[in-house]
Amino acid sequence: MTALNEGWFTEVFQDQGTAFSLQVKRKLHEEQTPFQKLEIYETETFGNLMVLDGCVMLTSRDIFLYHEMMTHPALFTHRQPRKVVVIGGGDCGTLREVLRHPDVEEAWQIEIDERVTRASEKYFPELCEANDDPRANFFFGDGVQWIRDIEPDSVDVIIVDSTDPVGAAEGLFALDFYRDAMLALREGGIIVQQSESPLLHTDTIIRDIHTDMRKAGLTQVRTLPFPQPVYPTGWWSCTLGSKENPLMYFREEDADNRAFVTRYYNSGVHNGALAMPQFMVDALEDEVRPEEG
Ligand code: SAM
Repeated sequence: MTALNEGWFTEVFQDQGTAFSLQVKRKLHEEQTPFQKLEIYETETFGNLMVLDGCVMLTSRDIFLYHEMMTHPALFTHRQPRKVVVIGGGDCGTLREVLRHPDVEEAWQIEIDERVTRASEKYFPELCEANDDPRANFFFGDGVQWIRDIEPDSVDVIIVDSTDPVGAAEGLFALDFYRDAMLALREGGIIVQQSESPLLHTDTIIRDIHTDMRKAGLTQVRTLPFPQPVYPTGWWSCTLGSKENPLMYFREEDADNRAFVTRYYNSGVHNGALAMPQFMVDALEDEVRPEEG
């Protein structure tokens, strides 16, 4: 539910009894795409704001937290990520972070709604600055189907940068999707799923992701929390599942010596995010195996 009153954009979380507001200067864009209602605002203090079906997707000011955490922990855990696929992620920011890794030879962005990418090119050009990289490939269509059809054993990392698990994105949080992703991944492959708020969703969405990833055959599963001021509760997470690749260890030296600039991610942040908060350990204790810490 959203409201726009006297220069404020407000997303109301009725079931939580909370709301999040940003003061806006003006609405820059509004359209009903074949998939969702897309709005862009210029805010007073958070840069530009993208909203899909009334839900805040990103602001120029804080989206680096999300894009960096969706990308670098997985890419510095994989031994040599050569082919990486982003499902969703139409704003192109995750793709940009993926392409910072010199090992990556080929990256794909599979976004169902081309209009999201076209609006990002116009209103968030900084997120799209790697779109012309010769390693970048774009397909506009359903990620569930795309992963089902891809050649087995052909991908090193799959990053599911999707909207909430409703509508078109529902199938990206399903057991069948993880089974297809498992087949698509090469040995040592990693899948990353945006996994909503630790405070709100540990007992529901996050638990289900752990259960389903394990049922699909991903032997290690780990949820990494990180701050995200504009999402419900201001606290978000990504969940990594791997095919026989220990998630508690990463290429720390490579992360320390990375030849590109980050604003949030570094090896200390990575180590800190691996230490799951106690209430999550307790809630997921049947899922988190002792050898995984
Ligand atoms: N950071 C955001 C968040 O966590 O709310 C996600 C941003 S990104 C814009 C999410 C994208 O996922 C949207 O552009 C949406 O169109 C896309 N998407 C949803 N379902 C999809 C599907 N089945 N296949 C491909 N893309 C999908």
